[in-house]
Amino acid sequence: MENLLKKVGANQRISVEEALGLEGASLFELARLAQARCAAMGLGNRVSYIVNRMINYSNACFAKCKFCAYHARAGVVEKFVLSDDEILKIAKDAERNGAVQIMLQGGLSQDASLDWACSILRKIKAQCPKMFLHVFSPSEVFVFARNAGISLEECVRRLKEAGADSVPGAADMLVEKIRKDVSPLKTSVEEWKSAIYALKKNGMFSSATMTFGLGETFADRIEHMRVVREIQDETNVFKAFIAWPLAPENTRLSHIPRVSAVEFLKTIALARIFLDNIGVVQSGWLTEGMKVAELAIMTGCNDMGGVLMDEMVVKSAGIGNSTTAGGMRAAILAAGKIPFERDGLYEELKA
Ligand code: SF4
Repeated sequence: MENLLKKVGANQRISVEEALGLEGASLFELARLAQARCAAMGLGNRVSYIVNRMINYSNACFAKCKFCAYHARAGVVEKFVLSDDEILKIAKDAERNGAVQIMLQGGLSQDASLDWACSILRKIKAQCPKMFLHVFSPSEVFVFARNAGISLEECVRRLKEAGADSVPGAADMLVEKIRKDVSPLKTSVEEWKSAIYALKKNGMFSSATMTFGLGETFADRIEHMRVVREIQDETNVFKAFIAWPLAPENTRLSHIPRVSAVEFLKTIALARIFLDNIGVVQSGWLTEGMKVAELAIMTGCNDMGGVLMDEMVVKSAGIGNSTTAGGMRAAILAAGKIPFERDGLYEELKA
C-alpha cells in the first residue's frame, strides 16, 4: 500500500494488476489513495454541480434490459411517448427554473427516427438558444443510425448540426459476458465503442458511466475502467466518469442485493485512483442520496452531477431522491469543499 501511495502521489498510472490487488483494500486505504490522486492531479478544493433537466421522452424499448425498471412492459409499465409540444414546454419551464442543460433520454425503438431526433433538437435550440443539449445515448445513436441506414459518423454529424452538444456515455458495464446476460438486445461493447469513436470524429464530448451491482465481479469493474481509460487515452472524449450502482427494485434483478454505501464509496475511490486521464469523477447521488454523495467527495469525487429535475429512469425503481442547487451547495460545503455551478462542458458559470 505504501508503494502504491508513493506511485499515485507522483501521479503515475497504476496497472490493471495493481488495481486488481486493491480488491481487499479498506475504504480508508482507498480513500487515502484517491485523495493522493486528487492532489497529484491538482484537482484543488472545489466541487462542481450543474442545474439540468432530464426529459424522458419515451419508455418504448425493445431492449428490455434486466436491470431496467423504466421501459414499457405490457400489464406492468404503461407505454408513453411525449409529444414535441410537451417536450418543448418542459424545456421552457426548465430554462425558467435556471436549468442550463437539457438531457433527452428514451428507450430503443424500432421506429426511432433520426429525422425526429434532429427536428426536436432544432426546436429546443430555437426556443432556448443558450441551453446545452446533452442528449440521447450511444445505444440510441446506434439505433438512429441503423434505422436511417447511415454510418454512425454521419448520424452524429447530423445530430450535432441539429444542435446536440454532447452525448452521455451510458456505458452500463463494458464486459461482454455481463451485457449478454443483462442486456443482450442492447449495443455490444464494440458497438458502444464505435459510437464513442463517431463522437470523437465529430469533435463531440461524452461522459463515461458505469452501472455496477449487476452481479459482476471486482475484476469486471476493473475491466470496465480499463476499456474507458484506453479509449480516453486515444480520444480524450470523456469529460467525466460517473458510477451508478444498480437500483434493483422493480427490475428483473431484484433478487440481487443493493450495493452498500461502503461498496459505492470504494468504487468511486477506485475510479479516481485508476482513471488518471479523466479530470472529473462524479458522485451518483440519484441512487445513493445526498448524504452518501457528500461522503463521496472525501473518496475522490469532484462533481456532484446535476439536479436532474424530474428524472424518471431511477424513479421507476422506486428511488425517491431529489435535490436542488441549494442542496448541492450545502452538501459540498458540509464536505469542506467550495461549490461552483458549471455548464455542460464542465466550465465554471458562477461561484
Ligand atoms: S436501460 Fe435503456 S435500453 Fe435498457 S430497457 Fe431500459 S430504456 Fe431500454
